[in-house]
Order: sequence, then C-alpha cells, then structure tokens
Amino acid sequence: MTPESGKIPYLPEPIAGIERIALNLWWRWDRRARLLLRNIDPTIWSATRHNPVAMLRKVDPNRLAHLSRDKEYLADYRVVVEEMDKALDPTRGWYPERFPELGDATVAYFCAEFGLHNSIPIYSGGLGILAGDHCKSASDLAVPLIGVGLLYSKGYFDQQVDLEGWQGDSDEVFDPRIMPLVRLRGPDDSPTITVLETGGRPVHIGAWQLNVGRVKLYLLDTNLPENDPADRELTYQLYGGGQEYRLKQEWILGVGGVRVLRALGIAPGAWHANEGHATFMMVERLREHIADGMSFEDAVTTVRAHSIFTTHTPVPAGHDIFYKDLIESVCDGYHDELGLDMDSFLALGRHPDMNHGSFHMTAAAIRLARYVNGVAKLHREVTRDLWAGLWPGHEQDELPIEGVTNGVHAGSWLSHFLMMLLDEVYGEFWENDPPEGDAWDRLLELDDQRLWETHSMLKRVLLDFCREQARQRWKTSWKDTVHLVGAGTMLGPEPLTIGFARRFATYKRASLLFRDEGRLRRLLTDPHRPVQLIFAGKAHPADDAGKAVLQRVWKASREAQFEGRIAFVEDYDVHVAHRLVQGVDLWMNLPRVPMEACGTSGMKAALNFVPQLSTLDGWWAEGFNGENGWAIPKHDGDGEDLDAADHEALFTLLEREVVPAYYTRDERNLPPAWIAMMKQAAIVAGKAFTAGRMVKDYTEKFYVPALRGIAEGDDPPTDEAIASLRKASAKQV
Ligand SMILES: *Cc1c(COP(=O)(O)O)cnc(C)c1O
Repeated sequence: MTPESGKIPYLPEPIAGIERIALNLWWRWDRRARLLLRNIDPTIWSATRHNPVAMLRKVDPNRLAHLSRDKEYLADYRVVVEEMDKALDPTRGWYPERFPELGDATVAYFCAEFGLHNSIPIYSGGLGILAGDHCKSASDLAVPLIGVGLLYSKGYFDQQVDLEGWQGDSDEVFDPRIMPLVRLRGPDDSPTITVLETGGRPVHIGAWQLNVGRVKLYLLDTNLPENDPADRELTYQLYGGGQEYRLKQEWILGVGGVRVLRALGIAPGAWHANEGHATFMMVERLREHIADGMSFEDAVTTVRAHSIFTTHTPVPAGHDIFYKDLIESVCDGYHDELGLDMDSFLALGRHPDMNHGSFHMTAAAIRLARYVNGVAKLHREVTRDLWAGLWPGHEQDELPIEGVTNGVHAGSWLSHFLMMLLDEVYGEFWENDPPEGDAWDRLLELDDQRLWETHSMLKRVLLDFCREQARQRWKTSWKDTVHLVGAGTMLGPEPLTIGFARRFATYKRASLLFRDEGRLRRLLTDPHRPVQLIFAGKAHPADDAGKAVLQRVWKASREAQFEGRIAFVEDYDVHVAHRLVQGVDLWMNLPRVPMEACGTSGMKAALNFVPQLSTLDGWWAEGFNGENGWAIPKHDGDGEDLDAADHEALFTLLEREVVPAYYTRDERNLPPAWIAMMKQAAIVAGKAFTAGRMVKDYTEKFYVPALRGIAEGDDPPTDEAIASLRKASAKQV
C-alpha cells in the first residue's frame, strides 16, 4: 500500500520535514512542534483553528522561503525534528523496556469514534475523546497499538440554536484534503482495500491512515465510486440514520475492520473493542478461525483469549440491540460461514433477560472477550449488577468484570501556560518524562500568586474566546442581537465562574440548577459575590427531551433576571472544551447517580487546577478526597425525591462553602483556601487520572496477557456466560 503524496503543495528543501510534522498529530501535544507550526503564520494558524495542513496550503510561498533562511527558525526546526524522531522510535519507551520479550506484537483498538483534534470531526463526545487520548498515551508509552475506526465524511453535526433556543443540526463541513489523512491504496492503485457483502450487495471499503505519534489509525470509508449510491452514504454520519444504517456501520467497522487489517498485512495479538459498536470484530475473527478448520468451541476460546471489551454506559439507550429481521437482511448468510443457523447466531448476542429474537452487542462482546471492564470503580459495580444474569448462581463480586478508570491525556489537555509554570517545579519539558505518584505532591511548591495569575489569565482567554466566537457568528450566521446576549459577551473576569459542559441528556441534569429560579437568581446576582455560569453541549439529534433542557438553559441565558450571568456557548467540541476546562474557576457535574459511567471532563479541569463540584458518580466517587473540590452527598432515593435532595445539597454547598471560599481573600487579594484546593485538584488528577496511568493499566491487566494468549481455565465463572455458545456449537453443521 502506498500512501498518496502531495498533501502539502510546496516546502523549501531546508524545512521540507515540516510535512512530516504536519501529518502526524504528535505536534498537537509537543510544545515545541506546536510553536514551530504556529510561527509559520500565526494569523492563518488562528484562522484555521490550529490546522497545520490547512495553513500550509494557504501560506504565502515567500514566507516559507524566508523561514527556510531564518537561522533561529532553522535551529528550532532541527530540535523538533530530533524530538520527533525520538518520540516515534518504537524501540524506546515504557513498553519496550518493560516487556522486551513481546517485541512489536500488535494491539488493535476498535472504536466507532475518535476525538483527536477539532479539525477531524469524527467524534460526538466522551467516548471519542477517550479513544483519542488512549491512542496518544499509547504512543507516549510506545505501546504497539493501532486504531481502527470509521471516517465520517460529514462528521458529527454542527450545532445551531434558533431564536426559540431549539437546537438545529447541520452537517459538519469536512474536507479530507486539509486533514492529516492519507488514503491507502491497493497494489493496483485502487482505493478499495477490501470488499464486504452487506444487504445483498458487495460494498467496497477504502481506508485512510492518520498518524497519532507512534500510533497509526486506520479509518474506513465506503464513499467510493464503485459502490451503490446508498452504500456510499454508509460512512457519512456518525450516529446518523436509523437502526439499519447503524447496523451496517457497525458491520463495516467490525467485519470490514478486521479484513482491512488483513489486507494491510497486520496480525494483531490482542483485540480491544472500545464499546459495543465494535463487537463484530470478534465475530469476524470467529469466522476466520472456523474457516481455518477450527471447531466452533476452540474458535470461541481462542477469540476470547485475545479479546478485550470495555463497556461505557449504564444507560440502556447506550447499548445497541438489533432485531432478527435486520440482522437477517444486513448480515445475510454470514451465519452459515460460522456453521450456525440464524437462531444460534442470535444466541451469541442473547441478553439474559430480554426477548430472544435480537442481537445485543454488549452481551455478545462480554461472551467473546476474556477481559471485560467498566470505566471507573463504581461503574464496575454497576456493570456487574447489570450483567449478573450472564453468570447465574455467582456472587456479584466474583464476576469477571474489572474496572479501569478512564484518564485524560495531560499533554493535550493541560494549558501551555500551566505547563510553563510547572517547568519551575519539574524542569523544562518535564512532560516528556512526567511525574509519577508522590512526585505530583511537589505542586504544593508552586507560588500561590503565580498560580493565581496564570489561572486568571486563562480565564480572560476563555472570555475573549466567547466574545470572538460570538463575533464570528454575528458576522456569518446570526441575524438577531438576542443571540449575542447569552453567548458570553456579558461575562466579566472577576465573578466566580462555573463551567458545565456536557451532552444534554436528561440524566446529566443541567436543569437541576433551575428548580428554584429565585434561589439561582440570588446566587448569580449577589452584588458583592456574584457567580456566573457557562454552559456548552449538544443534545443528540434524536433526543427531544435533551433538547428541551438545552432550551431551558438557552432561554435563561437571555433572561434579564439573571443579569447576563449565564452564557451558553454553541457547538461544544474539543476546541471549546480546551478553553472551558482551562478557564473556568469551578467545574460542575450533576449526573443522577449512578448513570454517569466516568465523566472525563472534570479530570481535564482538575489537571488545569480547576476543582470540581459533583454528585458522587463516575470518577468522582473515587477521586473526591475532601480537599480537591466538593461532593453532593449520596442520597438513597430516585426520581423527583432524588432531584429535590440533590438540588438542596447543591445550593447549600454553593452558598455556604463554594462562594465563601472563592471570595475570602488575603491582603494580596488571593483566595488562600481556594488556591489550596486548586493544587489538590491537580495533584489528585496527576496521580490517578491521566491517560498514561489508564493505558498502563490496560496494558498490564489485559493487553500483555492477551498478547501472551494465556489460556482460559484460570478464571472460573465464565462458563455460564458462554453456555449458550456451547449449546449453539452443538448445532454446528
Ligand atoms: C471530555 C469531553 C467530553 C466528555 O466529558 P464528560 O465529562 O464525560 O461529559 C465530551 N465532549 C468533549 C468535546 C470533551 O472534550
């Protein structure tokens, strides 16, 4: 497979290596590389929202010629090239040093979305960002991981809110020419890498390569002229369309993904399905083994021994279920290749207490993976509870479901200015060898005043960003001044600023704040100790209840009674997330326990010295230590009763603890108690909630044993989980 060239039109010889830097997202988390690119043309850099490929296609060739003769620039360039060589060397780093005997045996990581950079809109939210951070940390640690996903040519959706506060969605504009994507081609130069039968037609599948440091990501698409027009659209939209569209996408991701890797000559020894969308990857490997002559039972055992499955949500709507007739039409005839009849095939995805005529993606993944985990300690318990039916007669605490708590990629999420501040403690470019464990306690050495000044500057950057975004929209799409009011243009730099940015799903309860408007108004408009709120987030296009919550927030941001102290920032994405988690004073999260599996945005905030106030759900149930933020105490109740109790606890905390801590100042006008909490927030996040820690956990607990292919039998209570498979295998022809 030869990658296409000519992505970047022209670079003078002395700086020709810029192409390689621009085509590897590694630049995003290397400070020097980022500056090197930015300094090519800071104005275009900013206008392209930090997209080096787009910038290099626009920049004046005279400017490049000038840089190629500039001694200082060339010196910086050489340093970055050298750093990049080090960062991409597969033989150095944590993994090769720890597990030299494993060589470069590959781990394949399948996910329906990857959130890597705002210029590549193939993610919708937390799951994608997590997958992106996973790849980046795997690269840092030199874990031999490759990613497999889909390239959605119309991305997720752009959010536009109308004058009634109702969310409308339009397709995101997506031009692969200005992405660091390279199309792979077959030996005959054709873009078809593999062909997959679905819905009674062969579908040609193409693939693009995206470099994320050492990690290569393969993104599949069906938008090829060989395909039927309907099939070309199969990879247009992330989570778009109906059930059939989704099933076909997941079929392409799972079955197509394995076949693309085979065509590329890649033979992974461990296979990780990140969420149930990728389950068919396990089914396809089952088919491969059976085609090779293995018995059904041995094939199951082998697939299990090399498979890892991570489940991400306790919300039932977050799990895909496909009914028999749909499976029959989309996966037509496939069961024959497994030697199964249709009912036995469906038994692979049988839910322990649901209608038997459907295929449950999570159930199938749990059956076919030896290593299964939830994404926080609490979520492990919730997951065991949800799936106990697969292991009748066993105690919940012996079920083989682990918890690996999510983490966030520090190099991507920590503000540049805070990185520089941390240089004072850990030395310049400390992030290349980040502190571990108690070394994070040294953040206590940071000078309070310098920390506060840095934070205040980041807060101003956020407010400038809100105004600039409003200005852009005013110029291009907004026709009515009412839009400007609630877009953050009236926020000030002094008030305590609380951030709340997440998907507008009802269980996340943005509306909790509005249960008692009078009390909220008093909190926000106190003349001496005002508070302001910044909201962002999209509702799923099909979730009208979520849109109604968004509408409530949007309207409040325009109501005079709140005096301009509520803002709603449109089109939450990675870029907006960066500004928010770095610039607010407090991060707020209000999920109804235990619906939030983890919640990583609070970790991003905490790394940036922003404390969190949250219910004791997801990571906060293990991350809160009494000194790094506030927790709404657990309340045993549900529905209205729970909401009322949590609302009362939330406001009591805000009024009696949060606001006083922020506004109690010393003679230098610094808030000592607040700053102490900021430091604890970052210490806890650094110690336990980085993606580096997470990827090490996955590697040690799952990848390494899976690569070694440690046989089954050492893990007692899995038999019932695959009992239905054994029954199915009896019907094998
Ligand atoms: C981190 C992030 C999320 C996930 O955050 P949660 O806390 O899980 O809601 C979603 N969207 C974007 C853009 C993010 O950066």
